[in-house]
Amino acid sequence: MDAIRLPVDAVNARKDNYIWIFPTGPDSVAAVDPGEAEPVLRYLSEHSRRLSHVLITHHHADHIEGIDALRARHQPLVVGAAADQSRLPPLDLPVADQATPLLGEREVRVLATPGHTSAHLAYQVADALFVGDTLFRYGCGRLFEGTPEQMWRSLLKIRALPETTRLFPAHEYTRLNLRFVQSLLPDDQELQQQMTTVCQMMDSGTRTLPVELRWEKRFNPFLLCDDSNFVKRIGAAAQSPEVLFATLRERRNHF
Ligand SMILES: [Zn+2]
Repeated sequence: MDAIRLPVDAVNARKDNYIWIFPTGPDSVAAVDPGEAEPVLRYLSEHSRRLSHVLITHHHADHIEGIDALRARHQPLVVGAAADQSRLPPLDLPVADQATPLLGEREVRVLATPGHTSAHLAYQVADALFVGDTLFRYGCGRLFEGTPEQMWRSLLKIRALPETTRLFPAHEYTRLNLRFVQSLLPDDQELQQQMTTVCQMMDSGTRTLPVELRWEKRFNPFLLCDDSNFVKRIGAAAQSPEVLFATLRERRNHF
């Protein structure tokens, strides 16, 4: 059975952050990773909505700095990692892996996805997965606190979800990530076409997100480290997925 399609809006924040917003009731919404309050407050007033909840994927400033100001105006319930409370704003609903808190009418499933940070969470709501800085289109987050093995396992957890799951990362990194994939597969015609499309979208101010998981399973190199065909195509030696993942992530750091 197909999951219900979650209606999701977005506001742009900071340099290249997206704050994703979805309904929790007839007149209320939740915001994911509000690193800035102003664009969310503007959205709420334009749409006559109340902010019922805030979801935090991890503690980095560009994901949480708007929360105090939002709390002062709307008193949302704040959801975040119980394991990371010392680094997060005060939590009303501290959660851990596999928790299923109810946000108004919405059931959310929490997935622990350590790697970018040690307590990073993703949130599954109907067919949407808010992945924070774990997975990007054609890419994945930097390993600030976790090991490559940890991040690889987190990505496998995401990869195992239904293929029609829509991924909502917190940043617009698509173009640079795609350029990196092209550096691995320089002769790939399909990637060249995708780059043309992505450039057109960027030039016209269109978001390149969300993206369906089935797409990322085909083109995201960080989800393909155990795919023997991909390993052969990029000319890598046969090696464990974790080692290849670590090598690719390292190359991406210096790209
Ligand atoms: Zn981050």
